[in-house]
Amino acid sequence: MLEITSLVKSFPGEKTKGKTASNNVFAVNDVSFEVRQGEMFTLLGPSGCGKTTTLRSIAGLEKPDSGRIAVGGKTFFAAGGGAKSVNVPANQRGLGMVFQSYAIWPHMTVFDNVAFPLQVMPRTKRPSKKEIENRVNRVLETLELRQYAERQATKLSGGQQQRLALGRGIIIEPELLLLDEPLSNLDAKLRESLRFELKRLQRELGITSIYVTHDQVEALSLSSNIAVMKAGEVMQLGKPREIYENPNSQFVAEFIGTSNFIEATVSNRTGEAYTVETNEGTLTLSSGAQVPTGTRVVASIRPEAVGISTERPMATENLWQGKVATRAFLGDAVDHVVGVGKTEIRARTVPSVSVPPGTDVYLHLEADKISLVPAD
Ligand code: ADP
Ligand code: MG
Repeated sequence: MLEITSLVKSFPGEKTKGKTASNNVFAVNDVSFEVRQGEMFTLLGPSGCGKTTTLRSIAGLEKPDSGRIAVGGKTFFAAGGGAKSVNVPANQRGLGMVFQSYAIWPHMTVFDNVAFPLQVMPRTKRPSKKEIENRVNRVLETLELRQYAERQATKLSGGQQQRLALGRGIIIEPELLLLDEPLSNLDAKLRESLRFELKRLQRELGITSIYVTHDQVEALSLSSNIAVMKAGEVMQLGKPREIYENPNSQFVAEFIGTSNFIEATVSNRTGEAYTVETNEGTLTLSSGAQVPTGTRVVASIRPEAVGISTERPMATENLWQGKVATRAFLGDAVDHVVGVGKTEIRARTVPSVSVPPGTDVYLHLEADKISLVPAD
């Protein structure tokens, strides 16, 4: 659906005395990838690795040095390599965009913010007034903003403004939706909730999307495929599980980090208090996710939030019994892999707590450190 081939984009570097053209910064340096129809494709990497520049190049907001960008078989950009030069202007690419700094129009109402991209369409393509109204209301409904339709956009909370920005991105039903760290300005609870929202919307609407983030949990939970980037290059490309389980480099392994991902089903929810059932037992936790009882989810917890002890701890909740399978001393920490039934849980401890393999242990999964992410 989207094809990026050998994309290169450089910016002039800082001017240093005695040097001229040779100090360019290659923000994107020979990047190629493909995104299939209906996919949620993620560019993941640390700040400055070229994610935004790649996205802006696709949108037509940056002019690459060379390479090719094609959407649905139509070439948006081509230069270099003997190809005929093409550069379709941004406003003719028909893409939806949602950025980190959600640019909503402050002087407009919520309704008008979402309607605007339709209202500025060329007369020949613009839907009728009635249809615009229907479509905007449908989007506001989906984003749970219908009740604020007449409110001024600036009078919304951060999370509501973020959803509004999303609404503006999807109202034109773009072939391709570009999302640049759309959740990064929000607090953890809201981020968790909107992650589910995004996944649901993306699935329901079947919109092909490219999602940019530096947050590995977000990338792993939302994407069908991930490209991990470093210094303008794609280091690894694959499905979340492949990248998580088989990183091809130390960089990818360290960047993806470790987290325990435990499959679960919501069995009870009262506000933010959740009870979920897993193969190895019940977990209680607090989450901003808005998912009903019966939903399949994945409970995510970092190894350092898993307590390990040979004596039964005081805690009564989230206490699992298992057996240490392996132990690795890391200098400032000890990594334990503990078998609990058929599940392997990683627990990271301070060096003074080191439990040899074969030992029966209790694991305590701290309730406020467990987050919920959407299941595949
Ligand atoms: P990311 O989105 O992954 O944080 P960016 O694509 O924003 O990374 O930036 C990649 C590199 O390109 C960085 O070194 C950044 O400083 C540089 N860069 C981005 N935009 C510009 C610009 N307009 N002028 C000069 N350098 C830029
Ligand atoms: Mg960026």
